[in-house]
Amino acid sequence: MKTRTRVTWSNVIKKHKVEPFKYLIPGSLQDIVSAVREAEKCGHRIRAVGSGHSYSDVAITDGHLVDMSQLCRQLELDKNKLLREHQEKFLVEVEGGITVEALNRKLDRQKLALINMGAIDEQTISGAIATGTHGAGRNLPALSGMVRSLVLVAAGGKIYRIEPRAGFTDPAQHNDSDIELIQDDGVFHSVVVSLGCTGIVYSYILEVRPRYWLYENRQPAKWSEVRRKLADGSMFDDYPITINGQQVKRPIRSLFIVVNPYERNGDHTCMVARTFEIEKFHFRTIRDRTRNILATIVSNIPVAYWITLLVVNYLPRFIPAALERSMTALKDDTYVNKSHKVLFQGFEYVASQGHGSEFAYNRYENTYLDVMNVIFAKVKQLSEKYNVYPSSAPTLRFVKASPMYLTPEHEMDVCYIGNPVLVKQKGASLILNEYQDIHLKAGGKPHWGKITNRLEGRTELIRKWYNKFETWRKVMLRFNPDRTFLNSFAERMRLDEP
Ligand SMILES: Cc1cc2nc3c(=O)[nH]c(=O)nc-3n(C[C@H](O)[C@H](O)[C@H](O)COP(=O)(O)OP(=O)(O)OC[C@H]3O[C@@H](n4cnc5c(N)ncnc54)[C@H](O)[C@@H]3O)c2cc1C
Repeated sequence: MKTRTRVTWSNVIKKHKVEPFKYLIPGSLQDIVSAVREAEKCGHRIRAVGSGHSYSDVAITDGHLVDMSQLCRQLELDKNKLLREHQEKFLVEVEGGITVEALNRKLDRQKLALINMGAIDEQTISGAIATGTHGAGRNLPALSGMVRSLVLVAAGGKIYRIEPRAGFTDPAQHNDSDIELIQDDGVFHSVVVSLGCTGIVYSYILEVRPRYWLYENRQPAKWSEVRRKLADGSMFDDYPITINGQQVKRPIRSLFIVVNPYERNGDHTCMVARTFEIEKFHFRTIRDRTRNILATIVSNIPVAYWITLLVVNYLPRFIPAALERSMTALKDDTYVNKSHKVLFQGFEYVASQGHGSEFAYNRYENTYLDVMNVIFAKVKQLSEKYNVYPSSAPTLRFVKASPMYLTPEHEMDVCYIGNPVLVKQKGASLILNEYQDIHLKAGGKPHWGKITNRLEGRTELIRKWYNKFETWRKVMLRFNPDRTFLNSFAERMRLDEP
């Protein structure tokens, strides 16, 4: 195992830095075991980090920091060890440090694909799953919903294979004496989305699916109409798309809605991106083949970002019009590609100059639609009264309910409202605080990997939202009795307190 000292680690937006006693880069399961035992011997805390793409300090520890980057292999999955009913499924076993991007490439070579993913692919699979990273798709789970089994290194360096009660591995075939098999819903649903507090996850068995193709259609729309259709459910009705010159109505797989928070001509302009599953397109335009490459190049040119930042900070009154133009500029009737290429939004450089909060609401209640009105009023007040112009448009994404105890969509189909803000925008913290206060007042549940500072001091809300919090906490302390895997984020959220 590679060990380094005097390392300064920071998250991708450079907002949180830490100088751990030790920076460890394990290359095997046994390395993680040794790392945990050594930290315990020194009386230090220990925590794994993924790609540092969480905006909060959720990944930080000043004890021993475990860099997962070398644990990025696909493992050989022996299906004979699984219960018979699972043997025919499309499954892969991977080490936790593999990035979503590398996993997509590996799966594609095997003619497989992830069921869904978030808007970028730089996260590690373990980091993304630990905070409940989600994509869009009202009938699709977050990444955590694809986990069928995982290997965890917990207190004392003890290794567990953790699965739901119905089982996944055939207990009769589990003959590894170093790894204890636990098949228990309470444990499984606690450990998958655990913010790194239950130990270090070495590997996952993920359910995937055969490679598939997506068709994306992006259209500008008016919020008044989108709101009405979301309220009556017709926004999810089958939608006409053109395939091989023929118009056909297809079920919507996902909706991604971006809304200009500034009113123009008595309404708010939106961009609605719809995706549809289609059979492979034999004819794809040059633009279909190059959109991601171009988007990636353009969004990785820092000049574009710096120009945006200059406008945002020195000519803020142009922001409403710029956002309005961007809504219509994103119009795109047809984009067809392999699933992961359509799901990847291709804005890594620009996106990592932004941060934001994201809150989940019950999809069947209209609260989230009312919250949008409160956001519009707040943006108007901030800009007209205080000359503070939020620079990004709120987003709406829908995600299927999950059994995981600490994920915002726990047992509830949700709509996530995202509020991105450029990190270097003057007034960014003020804007984010105001957005968070709106959401917390309305009962929204925050995404753990995004900005959550306004939750501090209101942590009783966590107990109120998560009816299985106490079970989660007990499971967490079972694997982490000395609180070795906690950090200051977990302490501020009082995750170890009843
Ligand atoms: C540009 C950008 C776009 C984003 N888009 C989306 C999106 O579309 N949808 C969405 O839901 N989120 C999104 N996010 C948030 C991001 O997906 C999450 O914050 C995710 O957790 C980051 O993964 P990571 O690998 O960087 O993990 P890190 O941020 O490094 O770590 C996250 C957590 O995982 C824990 N962890 C990491 N590895 C392990 C392990 N092996 N065992 C135990 N715990 C571990 C860490 O301790 C920490 O608590 C985005 C973030 C950025 C910067």
